Amino acid sequence: MKIRLASQIQYDSIVDGEGLRTVIWTQGCPHRCPGCHNPRTHSLDGGFEMDIEDLKKEISTYPNQDGITLSGGDPFIQPEACYEIASYAKSMGLNVWCYTGYTYEQLLEFASKKDIFMKLLQNIDVLIDGKFMINLRSYNTKFRGSSNQRVIDVKASLENGEVVLVSKYNQIDIGLDLYKKPECIFV
Ligand code: SF4
Repeated sequence: MKIRLASQIQYDSIVDGEGLRTVIWTQGCPHRCPGCHNPRTHSLDGGFEMDIEDLKKEISTYPNQDGITLSGGDPFIQPEACYEIASYAKSMGLNVWCYTGYTYEQLLEFASKKDIFMKLLQNIDVLIDGKFMINLRSYNTKFRGSSNQRVIDVKASLENGEVVLVSKYNQIDIGLDLYKKPECIFV
């Protein structure tokens, strides 16, 4: 199986989720948010293809990573490939964050029709959902571009049957002391 990527894998990121992260930049996004930070990721046939097994090997070589982040682009455009990567990361003890322009509720709707969407959701710890909305852009939101987006604890949300937010990342003007690792929720 192959995945279409927008760029090379990035490691040691500290801005795409909690801790040190390996970021997989997927290619293809249908949302076309005005003000998108990365419009070259929109085309469904842009970027380049990479074999999933090669990608897994590459992920396994990066030391001291806390987790992986699926970003893009929209990872849910390639649910089968992203499920393979997410489940591999989980098997290695890495946590999984994922950015999507879909809402959590839309993804549940997809999941009710195709199992692969639920399988991918079940292997994501934290989901940042929703389109980027330029009129709601905020520089005081951690890990989110606009305040409509939510940082969702996926496991708790699936268990509770309603959206459960990671509360410290859904506040505005949060202080840096909240990011210290010993105090992190982890999922
Ligand atoms: S969902 Fe993300 S990548 Fe897609 S258009 Fe919106 S901001 Fe850009």
